[in-house]
Amino acid sequence: MELDAKQLRLLKMMDEIDNHAIILLDRQGYIETWNKGAEKIKGYQAGEIINQNFRIFYTEADRQAGLPSQLLAEAATAGKVYHEGWRLRKDGSRFWGAVTIVASYNEQDVLIGFAKITRDLTERIEAETTIKLHAQNLESQNKELEQFVYIASHDLQEPLLNVSNFVELLQLEYGDKLDETAEMYLGVINHCTHRMRDLIKDLLDYSRIGRRKALVPVDCQHLVDTVKEDLATQLRQTGAVIQCGALPTVNAYAIELRQLLQNLISNAIKFTPADRKPVVTISARLHDHHWQFTVADNGIGIDPSHSEKIFKIFQRLNDRDAYEGNGIGLAHGKKIVELHGGALWVESTPGQGSRFVFTIPVHTL
Ligand code: ADP
Repeated sequence: MELDAKQLRLLKMMDEIDNHAIILLDRQGYIETWNKGAEKIKGYQAGEIINQNFRIFYTEADRQAGLPSQLLAEAATAGKVYHEGWRLRKDGSRFWGAVTIVASYNEQDVLIGFAKITRDLTERIEAETTIKLHAQNLESQNKELEQFVYIASHDLQEPLLNVSNFVELLQLEYGDKLDETAEMYLGVINHCTHRMRDLIKDLLDYSRIGRRKALVPVDCQHLVDTVKEDLATQLRQTGAVIQCGALPTVNAYAIELRQLLQNLISNAIKFTPADRKPVVTISARLHDHHWQFTVADNGIGIDPSHSEKIFKIFQRLNDRDAYEGNGIGLAHGKKIVELHGGALWVESTPGQGSRFVFTIPVHTL
């Protein structure tokens, strides 16, 4: 067959491409041409591979399963076929090939062979596999850790309960024999055991987040109303004002979302100086396929250097005497938001107030 100038240019170009193996096969899959890319990806020189069958690139298992013939048959019927899988280089090593086989016909529409284009995607597939493995490892380590926290905190409760019970017994049975100092010591022990019980309960709650997995439609407007009812005493004592914009219904873990909002609102009130009337503003807007909620206050604010630390378990910035708490609410909150596939962060001007922002992906209800 005589080639015209254009066809010759095309052939030359195909020959020079070195990041794709571009080869022509006859109807049975015997190799007719070989370009630089094929040489680079598969390791054979043109002289040693032309006239061999392309089955040579397939693994033993794929050859046994008849994959090469299957792909040619599919290309012949459909015009072209795409396949990804492990292929063999000349030295026996494997590469991940992304292969397109296109059928060629003559003017009478008779099949005369195939053009085959292969890309080497080994790096991509290895990177994906590594990421997948890391994710799996991380997930199982997380599960183990949660299990550990759960068991440890659960088991810690028992001896603690014993200490409390015996302190009570001591006070009941020996109360009249104890002097003031001994009473004071017992008071301290009592205080500490109560505090430890609270911490253990927090840890237990933390490890339980996400165990009940059922996303349900949650009307956030209604949720804020119920949170306001729960916080009625705090609202009354501080005279706090809650301003709430229109809030959406989102697909969420209802109890956890309520816990999150309650903590953010309660913190917003708690961390406002006593001489200032707390004003808490709650709003939501759609942004980038997420509902973005904001709980803003006019409180003491947070130095930007602490904007990560506050989300860690048991981390607090203020004296417990000034502002009570265990430092677990925001760690809970972060876990809850991440459970929904969102994020939680803070923006603040120290002395003027904070804006806690969290996102929840928009799910179709
Ligand atoms: P807790 O409220 O029990 O201390 P959190 O985990 O809810 O625990 O909060 C951690 C810390 O983050 C708080 O101790 C406080 O220092 C800071 N913080 C949280 N919310 C606010 C807020 N709205 N304004 C200022 N500081 C805050």
